[in-house]
Parts: sequence; structure tokens; C-alpha cells
Amino acid sequence: MNHRPNPTALRGARALTAQSIAHPRWRHTVCLAMLACAAFANSPALAQRDYTDLPVVKEGKTIKISPHVYVIPDENRRGVPNVGIVVGSRATLIIDPGMGLKSGQAVLREAAKVSKGGELYLVTTHIHPEHTTGELAFPPHTKIVRAVEQQRDIQEAGMKWVAEFSARSAELADLLKEVKGFREPTETFDREKTLDLGGVRIRLIWLGHGHTLGDTAIFIEGDAVVFSGDLAMKKAFPAYTAPQSSVDKWLASLDAMAALHPSQVVGAHYGMGDASIISAYREFLTSLRARVVALKAQGKSSDETAVTLRNEFAAKYPDWDQPLRVHLLATRAYSQLP
Ligand SMILES: [Zn+2]
Repeated sequence: MNHRPNPTALRGARALTAQSIAHPRWRHTVCLAMLACAAFANSPALAQRDYTDLPVVKEGKTIKISPHVYVIPDENRRGVPNVGIVVGSRATLIIDPGMGLKSGQAVLREAAKVSKGGELYLVTTHIHPEHTTGELAFPPHTKIVRAVEQQRDIQEAGMKWVAEFSARSAELADLLKEVKGFREPTETFDREKTLDLGGVRIRLIWLGHGHTLGDTAIFIEGDAVVFSGDLAMKKAFPAYTAPQSSVDKWLASLDAMAALHPSQVVGAHYGMGDASIISAYREFLTSLRARVVALKAQGKSSDETAVTLRNEFAAKYPDWDQPLRVHLLATRAYSQLP
């Protein structure tokens, strides 16, 4: 165990990343428009999002949101997460290091500005490449802590996700080209793990199977901040990406996060806010479930139900992004509910 301050590790590959990010190659606009259209064509909320540059985490944007917690906001850029930096007296924790080596390098340089040195921990809210693959930039001594189910996600589908993202454009393929696999965790946990960073305690709580098998919430106890991953995001419909996902499991994860009584909620994407981000998801999923049960009881087919509810909820939540996601949520609920 090395408890000595080690700020040089955080400063890592500063020169390389600064040069890469400034390079005009990363400023192409076409690829991200394609990325957006491929997945979310016809989304009325598309104009709200910024697709004009590659999803590399930006530097110089870090904000402090509580005594120990900093966030590099995603600024509404697709493929970029809200990155968390939690600073204790003897260790620093990074939450979701962004996509690709260059994002990870940018995150490390931002962390070096606020860290007090010591150990470096890395935790990811879920498997998807924009949350995980920045890990490549992290020094070998980094303590990577993962839920067992997130490790299972990685083993079963990790590189499939990287390949799927890489196939979206030449620029994304370039951004992910160094990713040949996922790093082995230093430590895994089943349901919950507590970290003491020195003056600040963190609870890592496995809450799958909602967005993925390995969904993990990170609660910074004294600061009452929760990083909710894709399980609760501000004004964006939720997405299933694992066959095991269900409305009931997702609702249970929202109950667990609400029980923490967070004063601030940082979703993996979109804006930050208070616990109403969690209750809004609860309200949406509860009413979706009730409508699926009702339409099924009326003899509607799965497809009819999905189309009806997609339109219904897009109208009910006009400022929520990605309404097409409701189709899969409704289809899945139809097959799982009475
Ligand atoms: Zn995701």
C-alpha cells in the first residue's frame, strides 16, 4: 500500500494530450452528426445536443459542486460523460474517465489541479466506452474498483461495445484505436463497497440491472452527492441495453438512490440537479408500467402498445431527449408484465 503523495502520477502525459486536443483533426463535424443520426434519427430533441466535435473530455471546465466533489460537465456533448473527481486528504477518486486515451489524459490533468496527492482510485458507472475507456491513460498503480456484474458486462460485451462505437465513424475509430481490452480491476465487490479517501467516505453501490448489468451508483456521504450513472438523468429518457433489464429492477435502483437522500444528483450525461432527477424517473417508469398493463389488458399488441406510448410520452415530456427509447422500454415491459 502506497500512501505517499504522488502528484506526478496524476500529471501523466500532459504534453501529448494538450497537443492532440488542439489538433484540428479532432474538430471535424461530420462524424458526430452521423453518430447522432444513426442512433436517434427523427428525434425532435436532437437540436438540443452538440455534435460539433469529437467526444474528448475538455480541460479547464472543472467545477466544484461540494466540499470534496468536482465535476467536469459534459456540456451536453454526446459521447462525453459528466466526470467526477472526489478529493480526500489521502486519495483521489475519478468517476467515469471519458472515452479513449485522450479523454483519460485530460481527466488526469484536471484531477492533478485539485488533488491532494496520495492514492488514485477509478470507478465507472457502467461499461459503455464513453464511461470506461479513458482508463487507458491511468497509471499502473491506479486502484480500479468494479462491481462483479460490471466485470461480467465487460467480459461478455466490453469489446463489442468498443467495436460498435468504432464502426460509427473513422474519427471515433481513431479515438478508440488504443483500446485493445479493458483493464483488470484491482478489486471487485458484489453489492456495496466503502472507500475512505481521508476525510470523505464513498459508498459504491451496485444497482443493476437497469441500463446495464453493472450499473453502479457512487455516493459521497458527507457531501450528499450521488453519481447516478444512466439510472437517473435530467430530462432524457432512460435506455435499456441489457436483456435482463426490467422496469421493476430499475425502480428498485431509484428507491435505493432516493433512500440516500442526496442533495445533489449527477447523472452520467445531461445536467445536474437535486433529488427530483430521481423522482422524475420514478414517476415516468411507474406511469409507463401502468400504461403498458392497461393497453395489454385492452388487447393491444406489443407493437401497438410501443407506438402508442412512444407518442404519448414524447408529448407528455416534450423537453426530454431521446423519446425513441420509450419504444424499447414499452416493448420489454409488455413482455415482462401481466
Ligand atoms: Zn451507457
